[in-house]
Amino acid sequence: MAGGSRISRRRALAALAGMALVVGSGCSAGADGTAEVTTRLVTPVGPSPTPTLAPGVSPTPLVPPELVLSTLEVYQAGAVLVSVTGDVIGGQVEFLGRRYPLTKGSQSQYTFVPVDSEDPPGAHEVVVDVRLPNGTRGKLQATVTVLPTAWTVDYLAFSDEQTATLLDPQVVADELALLRSLYVKVTPVKFWSGPWLIPVNGALTARFGEQRSINGSAPSGHHGGTDIAAEEGTPVVATNAGMVVLARELKVRGNMVVIDHGGGLYSGYAHLSSIAVAEGERVEAGQVIGAVGNTGLSTGAHLHWEMAAHGILLDALRFVDGTNGF
Ligand SMILES: [Zn+2]
Repeated sequence: MAGGSRISRRRALAALAGMALVVGSGCSAGADGTAEVTTRLVTPVGPSPTPTLAPGVSPTPLVPPELVLSTLEVYQAGAVLVSVTGDVIGGQVEFLGRRYPLTKGSQSQYTFVPVDSEDPPGAHEVVVDVRLPNGTRGKLQATVTVLPTAWTVDYLAFSDEQTATLLDPQVVADELALLRSLYVKVTPVKFWSGPWLIPVNGALTARFGEQRSINGSAPSGHHGGTDIAAEEGTPVVATNAGMVVLARELKVRGNMVVIDHGGGLYSGYAHLSSIAVAEGERVEAGQVIGAVGNTGLSTGAHLHWEMAAHGILLDALRFVDGTNGF
């Protein structure tokens, strides 16, 4: 796995109100050594009519919007943190034919742009439409390269009873639909802050995206989470701050907690032996939300850790290993 992202391609261009203009782009190193691109609008935003001056009031010039990306190279099942600073009141990001609304953060409007496991590698445009306070719109654009991830195969064996009762395709589909109905919601609030935490210490037993061969079947699908083995009862903590939106027993994932981090980003914790939080409860990063267990479709005590942005399941480890650039 690449440690830190090496940006080989730096290009940024901006367009305002349909008039494309290529402007200077900068590339600065963040505190952790990762690169970020900055796109600036250098022209005045919107029409500038003769201002009406009131006594004692100075007109405040708008701060031009600026596009900041966490990385220009992102792996399949990774995510790019897309931020727009300056005076913007909202907007949406388009990438790979999908659109995501911006959410107001502490110092910018942002969203996590997901790359699906099957999205095509190569260069793709990120296009951000922003709404400006003066009623006009602006467009910011940059190129992001999707890098391929090599998936491994996980060979699993389940008992006849487990496969008969738990691998019922309808049961699996119903549970996925339930989780997806949560994961696609965008709460326009930034609950999360700072770095993402590993929820439990233990051995990595199955990576995100691993294809599965169950009882000798051909490898298929992509494992939707990261499996970390630990002793039953080991405390599991929230990877970041958020709102608990699910805390109940499911058939496949056993006792599960889902946390909404705001802006369309969620984390899920499955196969818990016990649940320590309730739906509707606010949690802080590092707060204990339950304990490692072996409930649901599981072959040993472990945590199945999911991350999802805008309904797309992502590799949770990329939130902690720096490869997403944040
Ligand atoms: Zn798993």
